[in-house]
Amino acid sequence: MDNQHSNEPNQTNAIDTVGVGTQAVWGGETEGHPYRATQTPIVASAAYGYEDIDEWYDVALGKAPGFIYSRMSNPTVEVLEAKLCQLERAESAVAFSTGMAVISSVLYTFLSHGMRVVSTKDSYGGTNKIFEEFLPKMGVEVILCETQDHEAIEAEIAKGCDLLYLETPTNPTLKVLDIKRLAAAAKAQGAIVVADNTFATPLNQSPLTLGVDVVLHSATKFLSGHADAMGGVACGAESLMSQVRHYREINGASLDPFSAYLIIRGIKTLALRMRQQQASAMALAEYLQTEPLVEAVNYPGLPTHTGHEIAKAQMKGFGAIVSFVLKGGMETVTKLLPKLQFAHCAGNLGAVETIYGPARTTSHVENTLEERLALGISEGLVRISVGIEDTEDLVADLKQAFASL
Ligand SMILES: *Cc1c(COP(=O)(O)O)cnc(C)c1O
Repeated sequence: MDNQHSNEPNQTNAIDTVGVGTQAVWGGETEGHPYRATQTPIVASAAYGYEDIDEWYDVALGKAPGFIYSRMSNPTVEVLEAKLCQLERAESAVAFSTGMAVISSVLYTFLSHGMRVVSTKDSYGGTNKIFEEFLPKMGVEVILCETQDHEAIEAEIAKGCDLLYLETPTNPTLKVLDIKRLAAAAKAQGAIVVADNTFATPLNQSPLTLGVDVVLHSATKFLSGHADAMGGVACGAESLMSQVRHYREINGASLDPFSAYLIIRGIKTLALRMRQQQASAMALAEYLQTEPLVEAVNYPGLPTHTGHEIAKAQMKGFGAIVSFVLKGGMETVTKLLPKLQFAHCAGNLGAVETIYGPARTTSHVENTLEERLALGISEGLVRISVGIEDTEDLVADLKQAFASL
């Protein structure tokens, strides 16, 4: 596989030199909208009309710019893709209908019978299902290593690796992987390196600058930020993204323009939201460490976290997800969660509202109890997606919930 996927922008524009908060607002936006609208229009059209057959043919063959059919490309979706290119410093991006659509499509684009994938035990539950159920059916060998055991991962890569798949920090255990180190090991084998950057967001972590070839997101989460749209996006060099785009065109998990619009709108406040959310995440993690009913707290920002030093080196902020293990397992979980006043109990994350949920009904709902335990996910594990509420209110809410037990 071609190892030289360039992500270098051809020229420096003003937008490349400003802060990421400014880029989130202005990146990818185009001008000249109908009626001088300042906002990206939702172009709700399945197809685009041509009177000149020659022009139509040229656009259809990609010889001239334009749109043909919205499964292939759509003007609203293209603005979202351009915004992600800006934030991930990528040459190209391809948007999908969900995060799982982008993950499965990227894997199916680059994998075929006889290939070998190296990844870790911890990854999003749906991703784990692709590794355990769907890829083996295709004749792809998948090796899942202990998540933070870098030596073991490198040893498996050295035995042969066509694709290295990384998720860091992981959902829901918040384990941290050294992206640069593992990507270098995989590149030495000629592998393609894919990273799920959903938890970190492009604000906190730039995998493409650390040797990763394809960075992907569930846009349903922090990018959209409001739990009202689903989407996914992959970013990387055009030489790779053109293959992913071709897969999307034919397999059809394209993003609809309404969701694209909501995600564009959400991204504009990403920097503001994350600043507040990760400050509160740190406060909640520190409080949880003092709570006697809590067995363990997982947050990469805590100096006691096993991956703290790596996180400090490769992340600008530690993100807005905290998880903790309650003594007494599911019985305590069942009592604690209904006591919370300012939180949804739901299977989602990355929204403006704080959300609590155990792995059983959130990240690993697709897995059996035995599978979760084998993955090191105990029944007392609760994930908090910290919202934008005032920090002191979130800490007080959790305190009163514990006090009422
Ligand atoms: C939610 C999530 C996904 C899947 O995204 P959907 O939009 O729900 O399909 C993938 N990876 C991570 C880390 C997630 O949190």
